[in-house]
Amino acid sequence: MAKITIDGKQFEADSKLTIIQAALEQGIEIPHFCWHPRLSIAGNCRICLVEVEKLPKLVIACSTQVADGMVVKTNSEKVVNGREAVMEFLLINHPLDCPICDEAGECKLQDYAYKLSEGVSRFEFDKIRKPKRVELGPNVMLDTERCIMCSRCVRFCDEIAKKPQLTFIQRADHIELTTFPGEKLDNPYSMNTIDLCPVGALTSRDFRFKARVWEMSSTDTICVGCARGCNTKMWVRNNEILRLTPRLNPDVNEYWMCDHGRLETFKSVNSDNHIKAPMIRKEGELVEVGWDEAIAKVAMELKTYKKHELAGVGSAFAANEDNYLFVKLMYYLGIKKFDYKRHIIEDDQDELLIRADKTPNSTGTREVGVVPKDGSSDFSAIIAGINNGTIKALYVMDDNIAADRAVADALLKLDFLVVHAANENETTKLADVVLSSSTYAEKNGTMTNFQGRVQRIRPAITTAEQDRALDGFAMSRLDKFGAHNDRWMNGPRHDARPSWRILLGVANALGAKWKYATVDDVFNEIASTIESFKGMSYLRLGLRGMMLKRTTEAVPAGKR
Ligand code: SF4
Ligand code: SF4
Repeated sequence: MAKITIDGKQFEADSKLTIIQAALEQGIEIPHFCWHPRLSIAGNCRICLVEVEKLPKLVIACSTQVADGMVVKTNSEKVVNGREAVMEFLLINHPLDCPICDEAGECKLQDYAYKLSEGVSRFEFDKIRKPKRVELGPNVMLDTERCIMCSRCVRFCDEIAKKPQLTFIQRADHIELTTFPGEKLDNPYSMNTIDLCPVGALTSRDFRFKARVWEMSSTDTICVGCARGCNTKMWVRNNEILRLTPRLNPDVNEYWMCDHGRLETFKSVNSDNHIKAPMIRKEGELVEVGWDEAIAKVAMELKTYKKHELAGVGSAFAANEDNYLFVKLMYYLGIKKFDYKRHIIEDDQDELLIRADKTPNSTGTREVGVVPKDGSSDFSAIIAGINNGTIKALYVMDDNIAADRAVADALLKLDFLVVHAANENETTKLADVVLSSSTYAEKNGTMTNFQGRVQRIRPAITTAEQDRALDGFAMSRLDKFGAHNDRWMNGPRHDARPSWRILLGVANALGAKWKYATVDDVFNEIASTIESFKGMSYLRLGLRGMMLKRTTEAVPAGKR
């Protein structure tokens, strides 16, 4: 350990740390562009200059290791003048693009120009012109003029994605970022370079020019693209999701997420093929009805079958709370045959984040009890039971099981099929009753990733039912976060309920007297009845989640 002093504050720091790291541990932020906690040190932007007593010149805090007795000043006159000079150099050729730049509002160069620069340029010559719309790859666009050559994107590709695709050409003020000859910036993690870029040089081809950052609200949630459950921020304007960005969780995804999760997982939430309201099949056609009628129909139908003629399919796409009440309904009805469908793509897994299991909550689904009692009640046995006529009615929650042609053929043989779904799909087309369920972006709940980490999902957009429930106090609450436009400009998307509430309605229509006022009540019951969730609450899960006390299966060394 080394005893050091930064800006008059004396403390002990690990002697392996650099000044910038030691300062950050004490909450002292030293300006930086090229330094990033998970990348190697480049030391090329020079904005982290600090003064160290007894050293003749300013030093860069990102590459200078702390030493016992070191006294550091981060805001002395010498440092302020040094930083101003660095900013002046960085801005000499930087275009005056802020009014049209996607990064404006979250740009380090813009922020530091306000904080650390005089705001006056002595440069009287024409700025160097460089290409402004370079398609670096399928997902990333480069504005070469805006690049400050920090090399974060280059190092990310080399060190994290392990795909060396970017490099610099030319020298001095003619230097340009580009791809290697014959290469594109095309790897499963390419869009992390956009988050890393401290300026607006790298932009998302999907998101660019869609919104200014201050027009959107952001909600802390997780990605549902695979069993990793990367921590994300969901950015919304006018009740429409516009982008996902990764959120730091050192135990799950560090600072990163994959391009598939970032681009594909929210499109179905925005899509036009939403189920608008509950539906019942009448004279061969699905027609929209009210919730009371739909739930009464399901309860009435379920009562007409013998227990062994009924089966259920839970969902690894649904939350722990949904699956917990699903199991409870199965027990209430005396149904012994229930399971969930696996969605594994064996050869689509890597060492960084991506998992072969393409569902976000397999571990939680099993942990709350959606597990076959024996070989005669697993998913394939249920389909076999439908095919041989022993199973006549099926309850399916939030999974398009009929996307598999063989399963679709089996479902045609059922007498009664009830389905929870957010979007029209192959399974809803075959259903007798469709109960419109909320997507992960419209509800509170938890999911458990492959490591056994229980993490929160939170609503970022509203459904018609939430709109009705929120009226009265929502305006003031949403106003507080500057997000009031999100629901009033586009209006509610559809009349959906979270699956746990649908199951509650069905159970009570069947005569159960379940009393869950909110999803917290369901989670609290899980935490008090299932050993592995003991001690958890939404409050304790916080932003980074908690590990299950045990998992039903060990964390895999290989694929699953
Ligand atoms: S494009 Fe952005 S991240 Fe890459 S070197 Fe330039 S400024 Fe840095
Ligand atoms: S690795 Fe999985 S959870 Fe993470 S962003 Fe990609 S799809 Fe989403």
